[in-house]
Amino acid sequence: MRILLPILMLLLVGRWSHSATPIHETHFVSPVKYKVRLAGSFGELRGRHFHAGLDIKSNRGSSGDSIFSAEEGYISRIRIQRAGYGKSVYINHPNGYTTVYAHLDRFNVELEEYIRQKQLEMRSYEVDILPEQGMFEVALGSHIAFLGNTGISFGPHLHFEIRETETDQAINPFLFGISAQDKVAPVISSVRITGLRPDFHKIYEYKVPVTGRKKKNLKPVSIEVPAWRAGIGIAAHDLIEGSHNKHGLYKLEMWVDDTLYYQVSYDRFSLKETHLIDAHTRFEVARKNYTTEVLCYRVPGNRLSIVQNDRQRGLISLYKDQWRKVKLIASDFSGNESTYEFQLKRAASFEPPATRMPNLKHGVMQEFTHKNLKVTFFPGSLARDIAFDIKSPAQDSTVSQFEIGDYNEPVLDGIRLSVKIPETLKSKREKLCLVRLSGGRPMDFGNELKNDSLITMVNDFGRYGIIADEKAPDINPVNFSRIAKGSHFKFRIRDNIQTSSAARAFTYNVWVDDQWIPCEFRSLSETLTIPLQGLTPGQHNLVIEARDAFDNLSRWSADFTK
Ligand SMILES: [Zn+2]
Repeated sequence: MRILLPILMLLLVGRWSHSATPIHETHFVSPVKYKVRLAGSFGELRGRHFHAGLDIKSNRGSSGDSIFSAEEGYISRIRIQRAGYGKSVYINHPNGYTTVYAHLDRFNVELEEYIRQKQLEMRSYEVDILPEQGMFEVALGSHIAFLGNTGISFGPHLHFEIRETETDQAINPFLFGISAQDKVAPVISSVRITGLRPDFHKIYEYKVPVTGRKKKNLKPVSIEVPAWRAGIGIAAHDLIEGSHNKHGLYKLEMWVDDTLYYQVSYDRFSLKETHLIDAHTRFEVARKNYTTEVLCYRVPGNRLSIVQNDRQRGLISLYKDQWRKVKLIASDFSGNESTYEFQLKRAASFEPPATRMPNLKHGVMQEFTHKNLKVTFFPGSLARDIAFDIKSPAQDSTVSQFEIGDYNEPVLDGIRLSVKIPETLKSKREKLCLVRLSGGRPMDFGNELKNDSLITMVNDFGRYGIIADEKAPDINPVNFSRIAKGSHFKFRIRDNIQTSSAARAFTYNVWVDDQWIPCEFRSLSETLTIPLQGLTPGQHNLVIEARDAFDNLSRWSADFTK
């Protein structure tokens, strides 16, 4: 025993060593027991972030399929959010990886009971629990939860991720053998040729439709570009048999005169770099719609690790008496490829259009002041040098609204806005919020009130301003009736200000007969669900309260009979 114990302890510690097992030596099984069909793949371009996992379709198009642990381990995190991943479970495995299961409908019975206790303890439906190792051990194939549609999800599916535990990098689950059969090659829908200045601003562009309406590759083109160098953009997606979804590529290559100039492959990325997608795609296109063009050149602010080759940053030098042969290859994980070839030459003579020259440098920290607004740029804020200015509508020296920079220019690591509160607003100090005003409801990215200034970190240029929030969230019944019929009541709660994940969202509380009960609120539909199953027949009283970050409180109450 004296010898055995240290060996046993060594073995136990060894099982949980920090470095991850090489991918080819690991073993993961599918988290579902039916044939995997995908609604989304790893690395897919999702507007402002890369998709960090696989979206596995439900078996029959509805919630409720059983979800199983992909390997032995322990549950390291249980999270319930009104947005984001909704209900999710994280499992740490002895092989050094963590699997994540998100948008779940509900958890297994044991976890459900544990979570309900925590919700009552914390008086919050939303929880983020980090159970100790040893509390919820799971075997390979243990039933942990049920597939659902919670959080920011547009249909029942399982979002499944594999991360390296130590670095929190998301890794392509295809590399671990979890995949769907794919014999269909990717589709290149268009290619954009951009004439660039040395500062990466465009002076010319030409879009080539590659896949026509008849789904046939159009003829290769020869183009004379009125610029000294060209950068290429490509719109492409992968198709998988039996799925209508447009999936992400696995690999993208650009060859120039038979030399590899640019290569991207979606094997893994850090969740801390996912916002750099704005330097990887053509931002003004990504802004307007979901279809995204990938740049086959590296703008200065692009520090993404998925770029594996960037000879001359992917820029193609153009000559007036020599055609340069360009070949784009889009591949999926199964090795199916689509290619498109064309050639470029510099136009014999051209006059570059007159455009504003940059006054702000990327890669350095700097401040820009306009009236009572101070904008701080960090070394990682900008994708490239830019021409920047701030406009304010009023003539006064202190104003509450500003038009900051160019809305179509990406902000990568964020910029800090600090606005000195105008005299006229000082009486409402506690209710003031610095928000984005361009597009829809005002958006709060999280505010700090410091001395006489409001400070916020934002990831967009555009219109910003200070507003006084004196309005409480609206609470409106959707299916409430004095005589309860169904299994739940639904209410809509909507605040006059939207909140990003960095801001404090409104809080809500529900009491039935003076008993606080945990109720789900879903951000996407702004819907609060109040379960009625446990109630005894008879008369009951319902109270709902919602309070925003500026202490505006609304209350809704009524009696009902069950
Ligand atoms: Zn997903």
